[in-house]
Amino acid sequence: MTKLKTIYLTTGYTTALKRIAMRGGALREIKFHATCVLWEHPREGYILFDTGYSPRFFDETKKWPMWIYAKATPVVCKEEWTVKAQLAKKKIEPEDIKHVIISHFHADHIAGLKDFPTATIWCSRTAWREANSLKGFAAVKKGIVPALLPVDFEKRVCFFEQTERKSRKDAFEFHYDIFEDEAIQIVNLPGHARGQIGALFTSDTNTKTLLAADAFWLSESLEKNVYPSRIVGLFIDNWEEYQRSFQKIRGFMHRFPEVEIVSCHCPRTFERCEVLDES
Ligand SMILES: [Zn+2]
Repeated sequence: MTKLKTIYLTTGYTTALKRIAMRGGALREIKFHATCVLWEHPREGYILFDTGYSPRFFDETKKWPMWIYAKATPVVCKEEWTVKAQLAKKKIEPEDIKHVIISHFHADHIAGLKDFPTATIWCSRTAWREANSLKGFAAVKKGIVPALLPVDFEKRVCFFEQTERKSRKDAFEFHYDIFEDEAIQIVNLPGHARGQIGALFTSDTNTKTLLAADAFWLSESLEKNVYPSRIVGLFIDNWEEYQRSFQKIRGFMHRFPEVEIVSCHCPRTFERCEVLDES
């Protein structure tokens, strides 16, 4: 199996009460960072899993109705924190990113997408169908800010569903082997957002990981089997599917305790990230 050099990056954060992310949690504000993963694949080159925030988010949410998004999630981010700026410090140019994998189309996952103009964009067809069809208030209600999508998206997109589907003997039943080497195995995790996916991979240090995107927010909630507050219905596409995906991950967690399960916004994921200058 191809192993991937892996770096976690954070691009900024929003704050919310812990109780929002986990029923019965403390009435204490915590930072939910928008993290991304940079992989180096020996044949495919640099790959991003999500692109996080960018100040472009502020530009595109100034006006009604997108303004609702900015009000619902007060965001802290700046140019130096974008993936593009952090990669520049590593001497990685935007054109060096060959693939961007989108877990789902919420703005905190795709605000940086326009910074990688030559990358192949990977997403689920289901997710794209929704993101491409919703406009105005209907879009913002689903966490989608259409102006964050590159205009040439359809020329650059590759759908997971076009790649080989391999059966699995665990809760996920199958995955898409997008590079035909099992390096990145895409599993469906719908519910939080339409067509959301997660990715299984093995790092070059032999750590097996499931990136679960927003299928849960806090690792503690997964471990204790506690769902988010009902208030976040606004950010959830389908509760029943959310719960099904959540329970699939729990089943996987119990069966494969050696696999790390990482969500995008958990403070524990932030601890894996390279430190930002917060001044
Ligand atoms: Zn999301």
